[in-house]
This record gives sequence, C-alpha cells and structure tokens, in this order.
Amino acid sequence: MRPEAEKLLRWYDAEHRRLPWRTHPSAYGTWVSETMLQQTRVETVIGYYLRFLDAFPDVAALARAEEAQVLKLWEGLGYYARACNLHRGARQVMTLYGGSLPRTSDELKTIHGIGPYTAAAIASIAFGEPVPAVDGNALRVISRLRGIRENVRAAAVAKLIDAEAAALVPPERPGDFNQAVMDLGARVCVPGTPDCDACPLRADCAALKAGIAEELPCVPKKKPPLTQQWTVALIRCGDRWLMRQRTESLLRGLWVFPMVEGRPEQSSLPDALERLTGLRVSPPSELGEARHVFTHRVWEMKLCAAQTEDSQPKEGWRFFTAEQLRALAVPTAMRGAVKALYQLADDR
Ligand code: SF4
Repeated sequence: MRPEAEKLLRWYDAEHRRLPWRTHPSAYGTWVSETMLQQTRVETVIGYYLRFLDAFPDVAALARAEEAQVLKLWEGLGYYARACNLHRGARQVMTLYGGSLPRTSDELKTIHGIGPYTAAAIASIAFGEPVPAVDGNALRVISRLRGIRENVRAAAVAKLIDAEAAALVPPERPGDFNQAVMDLGARVCVPGTPDCDACPLRADCAALKAGIAEELPCVPKKKPPLTQQWTVALIRCGDRWLMRQRTESLLRGLWVFPMVEGRPEQSSLPDALERLTGLRVSPPSELGEARHVFTHRVWEMKLCAAQTEDSQPKEGWRFFTAEQLRALAVPTAMRGAVKALYQLADDR
C-alpha cells in the first residue's frame, strides 16, 4: 500500500463520519446514498435516505413502486431526474440481474442512471473492486495533492486525475479509501481555504508545498445563472386547485401550478391563463413574490390567485383539493405558492 493511502486510511479509521449507509454497507444502500449525495449535502441526505430505505428496503421494493411514490419521497431533495433514474435502474436490475446489483464497475455502468463515479463507489464499497471513485471532492484532493494546475474539466486532465487516483487505491481496502478521499474533501481539503494543518497528507501535498492550495483545482468560471420571470397562478374551482405534472426535463414528473412566462399586465393575465389551461378565470389578485435558485437558473415568481367556474381544463391539467395536494410530489420551487394556497384554503 502506498504511504499516502496508509496515512489517509489511518486518519479515516479515527475520524470518519458515522453515516447510516456506512453502518451496514450494501450495494443497494450505497447506490441510493451515492445518488442522493450528488449535488446535495450529507446533512440533508441522511433523513431522506432513512425514509427511502424504510419505504423501499431493497431493489425489488423500489422496482415495484410507482414513480409518483418515489418522487414523493424525493420531494425537496431536488434534481428529480435522479429519482426517476434510480427507479428505472431498479426495474432494469430486476429484469437483467434478478434483483441483485452486478459486482463490477463495468457492469454497473450499464444500469440506467449509474455513471462512472457511482459505479466505482458501489463496486469498491460493496464488492471490494480496487477502482477510484472520482467525484468533485476527490478531484479537488487529487489535483491539490499532485499539484495539477491545468483545467480539471479538460478530458486529458480528468484522465490524468483518474490515473493518479487509481494508482493510490489500495487493493486491500478500496471502498474505505474512496470514502476517506470523500471525507477528506468534504471536511479538510474543502473548496476555497483547505485546513492543511489538519490534513494527514500535508507532508505529501504538492499544492501546499508550492503555496497554491487555495488556487486549485483549476476550473473555468461558471456562467451566471439565467434569471426567468414567471407568473404563477393558484386557480380554484370550488375547493379544488389546478395543477399539472411537468413533462419538461427540469422537474419532470413533479406537480406545479399554472405558470405564465414573464409578468403580463393584470388585465391580460386571464387571457394568458386561458391559453395555457383552457379555462376562463376571474381577474387574478396578487399574493406576493417567490424566488427559487436552481443550479443554472433562477425563477422569480409573482404569485396570484384566480377563480374559475369551468371544471374542464385542457388535457394534462387536473384539479386537487388542498388535502389531496399533500400526497403529490411538488418541487421546492413551488413552496411559496403552496403556502399561499393553504392560507387561502384556510381562510374560506
Ligand atoms: S495538505 Fe491541504 S491542499 Fe493538500 S490535500 Fe491536504 S488539505 Fe488538501
């Protein structure tokens, strides 16, 4: 075992985070946790993971579920395509592998929604395959450790980082090593200012020696997020409210209220809503503003409420009572609108 791997594992044995998916590691638990952890903080994931495993304790239970149930349990976690992919992947594992995940990273990559990183994480943690799992944390740690100054998004540089990581993975404990790198990246070798004094690799780190740890990894500047303006309408018919299940890739499968692009004049809003939903509505009243930040875009939303006597909307739209709405998977972006809806429903 390389001395760097040995130092890192010693640190991991003493310092590792006690996380529910590490207590009794399984291929399925690793798959679920690694999928949830993509773009999401560990503290947020813990509760979702426990509820998910409670509802779907194994691949077969997940494969049997309806997509709506899976999305409901994912509600608030964001990046909902991950939930749909996990669900689709579970069905594929049932069909192709009789419900047991395959044991190699190459086979795992053939499952829907499992990319190179997740495949390597499952194969190393659950099956002991000595492959590196290179996520954003590992990329930062390795690029600093080896003092790699080139753009880490460039294919050749990413390949180099993979090779450096692969050379470090000890065949005796590949899963622990990968988790140690993840922990180090999350807690010590953090973005911005790393805590090099607390790092078990400080004597080996090229970036620290060169005084450039804070400048690495080298990543091109992100484009600023795109801001979009929406008018979101709570349309009521009696005690029911109009919603639609999204088919667009962003928030696909989640339920949202009617959304008109931009900020139309109050006087032209009923026409815009009629074109969208097929329903004639009363002049809407304003309810306030809401804002939601996605990774690449921001929704600035004006909320309003309107009534309709017409209960036959265009295809794709459905009415729900406030009570029924609680069972639907609604994205966090609609949280302000949902809150306003419950206030209106209570005020009646
Ligand atoms: S010494 Fe500092 S920069 Fe180098 S790996 Fe450790 S925390 Fe990261």
